[in-house]
Amino acid sequence: MFNQENLSTPMTLSIPNIPIVEIPLQEGIKLFIKREDLVHPTISGNKYWKLFYNIKHYQSLHKENPLLITFGGAYSNHIAATASLGYEEKIPTIGIIRGEELKDKWHENPTLVWAKNKGMELRFVTRNAYKDKEKISNQLENEFQNALIIPEGGTNSLAVKGIQYMLNDETKNFDYLCTAVGTGGTIAGIRKYAEKNQKVIGFKAVEDPFLKENIIQLSGNNDFELIDAHLGRYGIINEDLVRFINDFYTKYKIPLDPIYTGKMMKKIFELIATGYFPKNSKILAFHTGGLQGIKGANEMLKKQNKLTINF
Ligand SMILES: *Cc1c(COP(=O)(O)O)cnc(C)c1O
Repeated sequence: MFNQENLSTPMTLSIPNIPIVEIPLQEGIKLFIKREDLVHPTISGNKYWKLFYNIKHYQSLHKENPLLITFGGAYSNHIAATASLGYEEKIPTIGIIRGEELKDKWHENPTLVWAKNKGMELRFVTRNAYKDKEKISNQLENEFQNALIIPEGGTNSLAVKGIQYMLNDETKNFDYLCTAVGTGGTIAGIRKYAEKNQKVIGFKAVEDPFLKENIIQLSGNNDFELIDAHLGRYGIINEDLVRFINDFYTKYKIPLDPIYTGKMMKKIFELIATGYFPKNSKILAFHTGGLQGIKGANEMLKKQNKLTINF
């Protein structure tokens, strides 16, 4: 029998089936996108899977006074996701936010307003202090002995383990698996759990000299490729990119974010146009979410009188 009660109280951390949709092309290449952005209404994309085992493991250890603490910048998808998860699971959360100047301006930032509305306590630290996250972590460990302290971007070995659910029998049918890369946890999981013959390509949203080594450490494998997709440094948004994102939405009705997935898809289109992929290749790109960041990005673009993202 259909159980109404189960439906009205879904488990936050279930393992939903995510649709794979085709982006029709004429070039003799098959391109598909897996909509991990739809994994949960408020905990989006890869951040859901990166938190998955971290939370499950933590919940199996501590039942009394649980607390989640993590780190992020003012527009961080990981901060938004952690705040939402804490809200859903009724676990208090603290966000250590980069930039002391935001202390008086957080209400102008949609991500921080979201986090605050989900009950997250925001602690602002100077950019300089933020660089030494180990020191901050040690202080927090002393202050909150029961807390789970999750690194910036959510990347650790349990995060990599959670990424396995982005892969399934259907994803085995693709020659190429593509993802946007920040700290590298997601591509590490994809490389670790994909089939050996599948090629894994990461589209870098950030320039980081330790990135490749970190990914090798986390995945135990160096069989992946990293391609620059950032426009000079993390967070840069130019008019070409905004136009691409708007056109992509008009054509395919799929929203992309300007920091990760938009940059990845734009680069994939460029690579297809220049013949990077052999004819008849089947490519799967993971939509890792990040759509919560669009509001903040648009406000910034509007202030600069620049083209904004319109869905
Ligand atoms: C955080 C994030 C990434 C990068 O994931 P990493 O595991 O840090 O490499 C990619 N896409 C989106 C939308 C993200 O929010």
